[in-house]
Amino acid sequence: MGSSPTVRTFIFLGSMKKTKQQKNLRIIPLGGLGEVGRNMTLFEYQKKILIIDMGLRFPEETMPGIDYIIPNISYLAGKEKNILGVVFTHGHYDHIGAVPYFIEKLGKNLPMFAGRLTKGIILKRQKDFPGKPELNIKDVKDGDRIRLGPFEIEFVKLNHSISDNFGLLIKTPLGNIFHTSDFKFDPSPIYDLPTNFKRLRKIGKRGILLLMSDSTGAEEEGHSLSEKEIMENLEELFKKTKGRIIASTFASLINRMQQIITLSEKYKRKVAVDGYSMKTNVEITRNLGYLKIKRDTLIKPKQTADYPDSKITILCTGAQGEGEAVLMRIANKEHRFLRLKKGDTVIFSSSVVPGNERTVQMLKDNILRQKTNVFHYKMMDIHAGGHAQKEELKKMIEIMRPKFFMPIEGQYSMLVAHAELAKKAQIPQKNIIIAENGNIIDVTRNKISLSKKEVPSNYVMVDGLGVGDVGEVVLRDRKVLAEDGMFVIVAIVDRKTGRVRGSPDIISRGFVYLRESKELLAETRKKVITIINKATGGGVVNWAYLKNEIKEKIGSFLYSKTQRRPIVLPVIIEV
Ligand SMILES: [Zn+2]
Repeated sequence: MGSSPTVRTFIFLGSMKKTKQQKNLRIIPLGGLGEVGRNMTLFEYQKKILIIDMGLRFPEETMPGIDYIIPNISYLAGKEKNILGVVFTHGHYDHIGAVPYFIEKLGKNLPMFAGRLTKGIILKRQKDFPGKPELNIKDVKDGDRIRLGPFEIEFVKLNHSISDNFGLLIKTPLGNIFHTSDFKFDPSPIYDLPTNFKRLRKIGKRGILLLMSDSTGAEEEGHSLSEKEIMENLEELFKKTKGRIIASTFASLINRMQQIITLSEKYKRKVAVDGYSMKTNVEITRNLGYLKIKRDTLIKPKQTADYPDSKITILCTGAQGEGEAVLMRIANKEHRFLRLKKGDTVIFSSSVVPGNERTVQMLKDNILRQKTNVFHYKMMDIHAGGHAQKEELKKMIEIMRPKFFMPIEGQYSMLVAHAELAKKAQIPQKNIIIAENGNIIDVTRNKISLSKKEVPSNYVMVDGLGVGDVGEVVLRDRKVLAEDGMFVIVAIVDRKTGRVRGSPDIISRGFVYLRESKELLAETRKKVITIINKATGGGVVNWAYLKNEIKEKIGSFLYSKTQRRPIVLPVIIEV
C-alpha cells in the first residue's frame, strides 16, 4: 500500500493541472482598444480560435500617404487550421474593412457569418480587390444561432447607425459572454425596429459571465438622441433653407443618408450623390432594399445646374476633411461640376474622428470664407448618433448584470469612463478589466486577469502600394519631405586625383526657392568641395563615410541658416 497512493496522487494532480490550463478562455484584442476603429478580437479556447470582426482604421493627420491602418495578425500565423471562423457584428469599415488584406493569409475557405447588409458590403468591397479569392460567407438574421467548435453564437439585433447590427451572445463552456457590437438604445428609430428590451432582459437572466460593451459614447452624459429627434433637427434645417443643401457625412451612416434623402423628397429636392464610397453604399443598400429612394429622386452632380437651388441636395463624402473626398474638392474649387456659392448650406453630419480635428477646422473655415452657411451639429454627431451614452451604457450593464466587465471600442479615456460606470453599477473593481490591444485576457469562471504575455498588435499600414511595408522610417521621411523638403547634391569626383571636378550641382524641392538663395547655395557648394577633398585626399576613400559626412555637415549647416532640416541626398559620381 505504501507508495502506490502517492503515485496515484501524482497522476491525479498532473491531469488536474492539465485540465485547469485548458479551462482558461483567452480573449485577445488585436485592435479597437485605445483607439476608435480597427476592431478585431480573438476568442481562444482549447486552441480553437473564433474571430469577431476584421476592421480597419483611417490614418491620422501625421501619417502622410497612408490609406488605412489594419490589425497585426502575426499571432495567427501557424494557427490557421485552428481558426473556426469569423463573425461580423455590422457593416462599418472599422469592423469589416481589413477582410481583403487577411483572407489569403487566413485561408480562402474561412467560414464567415454576417447580416445580409453586412455581407453585401463585404462582398462589394472584395470586388474592389481584383484577383482576391471569393469569400465563403453566410448570412444570418436576428435570433439565428450558429455553433463553431466550443462556441455557440446567437445574433441579437441592436440599434446603431446602420441596419443589421448584431450584438453577440457567445456561449462558451465557461459561461455566457455578451458582446454588444456598436450600439445605442433607440425607442423611436427611423425605418427600423425599436430596441427589444424584453429580449435583452431575458438574455441577462440566462446569466452573463462577461459583458464586453461599446465605449465610444462613454464620456457623453445622458442618452444618445433617437433617430427621430435627429430627423426633426434635420427637418428644421430643410424647412428654413432656401439655397442648395450640401450634406456631407460618412458613407457608412446609412441611416443618416436615408434621412437626408427622405427629407429631400418631402421638400421636393433632387439628390445628387457624390463620392465613390457613398455611391457604392447607396447602390448596395438600395439593391438589398435597405435604402428607400423614389424612382426620380437621384440626379447626377452635373445635372444640379438644371434645377433651382432650392430644389437641390448634394449628398457627399468628406465630413472628416479627407483630402480626396468630395467636400474638400468642392471647397477647394477642384470639383468638376460643383462650386460653393452664396446661400449654400453645408451640413457636417458626422463627428470628427480623433486625430482629424485640425483638418476639419480648416475645411470649415475655408467653406465659411465662401459665404456659405455651415452647420456642424452635435446632434448629427456620429458618436452621439450611433453610440450609447452614459445612461444607456449603465442600463446595458444593469440589464446584463455580468460577473465580469470589459469596456471595448474606444480611446483609452473612453474605456476608463466606461469602467467607472460599471463600478457605480456595483461591479467590483477586481471584476473589471481595462485592456489594451495585444493583451491576453484570461477568463475562468471565477477570475478575469491580464496575462503577463502579450501578442504583437502594432499598426500595420496600408498605403495603396502594399501592406505593412510602410514602416516608421518611411513615414518619417514622408513627414520630413512634406515639411522641410529635400536637397540633392551631385558631385563629380576625379578618380585619379580624388578632387571634385567643377562645381557640385544642387537640386532642391520644397526647401527654399533656389533663385533667391544664391548666397546660401554658393556657400553650400564650397562646403561640399571642402568635405570631399578632405575625405579623398588620403588615397583610399570610404564612400559610405563620405556620404554620411556630407549628409550630416550640410544638414546642420542648412539648419543653422534656415531652421529647416530637409532630407539631404548626396550623389557622388566617380569619373
Ligand atoms: Zn459602427
